[in-house]
Amino acid sequence: MDFEWTPDQIALRAKAAEVAASGVARFGRHAASWMNGYSKEFSRELSSHGWIGLIWPTEFGGGGRPPIERLIVGEEMIKAGAPIAASWFGDRQMGPALIQYGTKEQQEKFLPGILAGETTWCIGMSEPNSGSDLASLSTSARDDGDEWVINGQKIWTSFGGEADYCYLICRTSSDGPPHAGISEIIVPMNTPGIEIRKITDMTTNRHFCEVFYTDVRVPKENLVGQIGGAFSQTMRQLEHERGGIDRLVSTYFLFQEACAMADTTDDLVRQEIAKLETGYRIGRILVMREVLKQAPAGFSAATKCFCTEHQQRVDQFVSTVMGANAMIWDDTAKGLAYSPGYTIMGGTSNVMRNILGERVLGLAKI
Ligand SMILES: Cc1cc2nc3c(=O)[nH]c(=O)nc-3n(C[C@H](O)[C@H](O)[C@H](O)COP(=O)(O)OP(=O)(O)OC[C@H]3O[C@@H](n4cnc5c(N)ncnc54)[C@H](O)[C@@H]3O)c2cc1C
Repeated sequence: MDFEWTPDQIALRAKAAEVAASGVARFGRHAASWMNGYSKEFSRELSSHGWIGLIWPTEFGGGGRPPIERLIVGEEMIKAGAPIAASWFGDRQMGPALIQYGTKEQQEKFLPGILAGETTWCIGMSEPNSGSDLASLSTSARDDGDEWVINGQKIWTSFGGEADYCYLICRTSSDGPPHAGISEIIVPMNTPGIEIRKITDMTTNRHFCEVFYTDVRVPKENLVGQIGGAFSQTMRQLEHERGGIDRLVSTYFLFQEACAMADTTDDLVRQEIAKLETGYRIGRILVMREVLKQAPAGFSAATKCFCTEHQQRVDQFVSTVMGANAMIWDDTAKGLAYSPGYTIMGGTSNVMRNILGERVLGLAKI
């Protein structure tokens, strides 16, 4: 196995690091910058470099580049804390979902905006009474001639207040098993009947939203893929989402800073640094296996678990090294306060372990 980077990959990494540093200088630095660093201007800049849709097929306007290049660009952006959140969901998830399941009309209508860094997407899955158990959701879409009529409430919708479109998972049928009655529908966020209430999290960030849908009418053609097909379609999307580099590097700059401040003459500190650096490298290999499609089916659950728990171990180390300084309210403190979310978003560690046990290892379901 050859772990060396090619000259082109080294050059791409250097360019991405340069653009990331310039983005941080102008728009600020953010831990988990793919969730916390929102700048449309920077998204347009990413687009001008061809870094949105970099690995999408060329017939859909993408760059057609190998997946490892997206890993390189993403790693440099998030490591530096550059603000990539305005385009991240569209690039990572919604674009690929539309390429796989969308109609030609949907692809022509929605992909160019994502590629240009002009449109932001949010994901409407979680509800007040439905999180890990997606099949239990109750927000409904009623078939009414040429339209769907949507009613219900979503919560934790990141960027609901900024997004142009929501990729909504909702119930189109109550007959049969619950997971067979949910569908994916594109909802323009300026449609009448949508009320958005922002939630301030403990880092003072306001990407979370409660979104209320009251008789929201969207055209029938906004259904993505199969009616009742959301469960398998969403599981496939989450599979892509979970194994990415974003799950590993969100705390990287905090680690670098803590290492610089740490007393490296102390054996225990040295051991901890070595342990965390080893963890980072193992996580990176797991992510590469996902990106190169060498991991077993379902294994992204293990990759996500390992990488997000590594990020939390990094944050514990940073707090220990910085002591009271960690409480000064800057991007470090905010990064630490954001830490519990890593093992919740995209599926909790408990649920990841269930997937690993049941689907990958074939253990009995209890
Ligand atoms: C930073 C962040 C961003 C997010 N962004 C979005 C977004 O954009 N759109 C969106 O729709 N949602 C979003 N979410 C919500 C996220 O998807 C949910 O929080 C997550 O799926 C868990 O659901 P829940 O909060 O309802 O917890 P629950 O599902 O109620 O879980 C509560 C606890 O029970 C455990 N548990 C649940 N089921 C099982 C089981 N079967 N076996 C063992 N343990 C179990 C869980 O591990 C957890 O500890 C975001 C969350 C975070 C933290």
